[in-house]
Amino acid sequence: MVDGAMATLRSSMASPTKPTVKKGSRHASSMESIVLFGPPGAGKGTQAQRIMDSTGLPQVSTGDMLRAAVSAGTNTGIAAKKYMDAGKLVPDEIIIALIEDRILEEDAVNGVMFDGFPRTIPQAEALSNITKVSHVIAIEVPDDRIVDRICGRFTCGKCSSVYHDTFNPTQTDGVCDKCDSTELKRRADDNADTVMSRLGAYHEQTSPLALWYESKGIFHRIDGDRAIDEITKDILLSLN
Ligand code: ADP
Ligand code: ADP
Ligand code: ZN
Repeated sequence: MVDGAMATLRSSMASPTKPTVKKGSRHASSMESIVLFGPPGAGKGTQAQRIMDSTGLPQVSTGDMLRAAVSAGTNTGIAAKKYMDAGKLVPDEIIIALIEDRILEEDAVNGVMFDGFPRTIPQAEALSNITKVSHVIAIEVPDDRIVDRICGRFTCGKCSSVYHDTFNPTQTDGVCDKCDSTELKRRADDNADTVMSRLGAYHEQTSPLALWYESKGIFHRIDGDRAIDEITKDILLSLN
């Protein structure tokens, strides 16, 4: 995108009215996004929060966006809820529309860090028309570790920090380390039954994307079955 067009885009986004840019049409050459890829519970959200400052890119989690839509009772939330409760993927059209809107927000002007998107080939194809992807970071964790990770997960309702009952507990029981909030919560779909269908969906619909991105030479495999700090170090090395 030429400078003039970029300036027009920025000013249209800064105005309180809706952006006039056509959805999905922003494909600026300066905009390079990162994809955090991996099964549910691999540690994508945990790592996204730790590398956000280094990358300077905002975390965009489709799971978080869908949960916000469900809480707000929007049409998207109503349509998505039954799939989420069953541990199935939400239809591509819904996800792609969410991303097309999100990418037009001002903080996304230099790209974003996708967490949990894309999860299907059609989503990846749509993404290639929305933003350039510079790195796909695949956090690899064996299936037999996933159930324990998911079933012990809890997050801070105020600052979204991610914890685990055993592997990453808070320093003081019931209090967020980062913001001191006591509003710690668990997700309804973080139970052993739903995890099995989420893992099934990952293997059937999402893991084929690895080959797709490998053929583009931007796929970086990271051993995610290690200490959180070691994984962060490796991700930062892959990004440099
Ligand atoms: P994802 O975003 O990929 O679903 P999360 O970042 O939410 O995964 O992590 C899932 C759970 O596993 C959380 O409870 C988190 O604290 C824990 N976790 C994350 N990374 C590790 C790790 N390297 N070792 C052990 N537990 C981890
Ligand atoms: P996790 O990383 O633990 O699987 P997420 O928060 O990423 O959890 O996703 C929760 C649920 O939201 C998924 O099980 C699925 O129903 C839905 N979801 C999130 N992202 C996508 C996506 N890109 N495509 C389809 N469904 C999605
Ligand atoms: Zn907090």
